Amino acid sequence: MINQERIKNTLLDLVQISSHSRKEKDVAEYLRKACEALGAQVETDDAGEKVGGNTGNLIARFPGTVQNAEPILFSSHMDTVIPGEGVRPVVEGDIVRSDGTTILGSDDKSGLAVILETIRAAKDANVPHTDIEVVFSICEEVGLLGAKHVDESRLRSRVGVVFDSDEPDILFTRGPSSDAIEFKIYGLEAHAGVAPEEGISAIRIAAEAIAAMRLGRIDEETTSNIGIIEGGKAVNVIPNLVTLKGEARSLDEAKLDAQTAHMIECVQAACARYEVSVDGKRTKARFEHTLNRNYSAMNVSDDSRAVQIVVEAGKRLGREIKTMASGGGCDANVYNNKGIECANIGTGMRAIHTVKEWIDVRDMVASAELGLEILKLHSEQARR
Ligand SMILES: [Zn+2]
Repeated sequence: MINQERIKNTLLDLVQISSHSRKEKDVAEYLRKACEALGAQVETDDAGEKVGGNTGNLIARFPGTVQNAEPILFSSHMDTVIPGEGVRPVVEGDIVRSDGTTILGSDDKSGLAVILETIRAAKDANVPHTDIEVVFSICEEVGLLGAKHVDESRLRSRVGVVFDSDEPDILFTRGPSSDAIEFKIYGLEAHAGVAPEEGISAIRIAAEAIAAMRLGRIDEETTSNIGIIEGGKAVNVIPNLVTLKGEARSLDEAKLDAQTAHMIECVQAACARYEVSVDGKRTKARFEHTLNRNYSAMNVSDDSRAVQIVVEAGKRLGREIKTMASGGGCDANVYNNKGIECANIGTGMRAIHTVKEWIDVRDMVASAELGLEILKLHSEQARR
């Protein structure tokens, strides 16, 4: 029932419409037309204004053929990472790849195409379904900002599926909490050649702090990184300020807290080693830090409705859907925290966030077949 040629063409259309985060308007317009042609009521929410983007999340409501039943949520994101403008897809049989100068944008345009194809196929074949609420979100790639600004009181679904990962038979049900951490390390400025004794190098302190930090993979559930370091003005000036920006993620809140505490201790210990006296005035190195929650963990149980419906739909298709933990966050993290239970199913996207990105259209077909079976199953459960 899934039309392979049509889903491929939808993907090709979508990847050729540029949509870096905060610039999703043109893709939103394409999707609005497609959804309206399928009978949906479509609105754009105010998330765009809140995050400084050129459009909000697109919310499409497809009326069900089964009445008075709880709706189901389908979601994928409209934005892509850079370099994603002027994508020229290369098609080799069932494989679609970028031409090597940009990403392809199958993250997450494959998800958009899968959702559209699922609904098109449901209409074509008169597959019974409940109301379907679709959220095409903005700014997923820059901190799940679109999903965070979804007003959940405007959605009736309490269960759903996010289409935003690789293997079509893997359902990501667990994802980490992520904290952003930023340090400002203050030393003391001095002439590096004339009076180095009178200075405290913030760069040196930063180096010692980072060298002492456990970073990278901390354990099975926890990772951490310092990704940005900025500081210094001139080679003959002892630098008085360095900024470090990093993150820590864990499936376990206690481990996440332990990691951020460890990072802070490392900076504290390095600062504590440095102080100077200049003209009787003592100066100690010092630092400030800020800790912000990027997003909170997703932890959907294998017994939950959101998982059971996907696994059961897979079984009906003769497929074994496996649940797994992811090292990344996605819109599903946010929806779960807003009371809409959902996990993240694959669409076939590969080598994402690189110029080698590619996708096998047959994986998208498999994902849409699963989507269609989920719609059927959900409508049967609603009628029971
Ligand atoms: Zn994505």
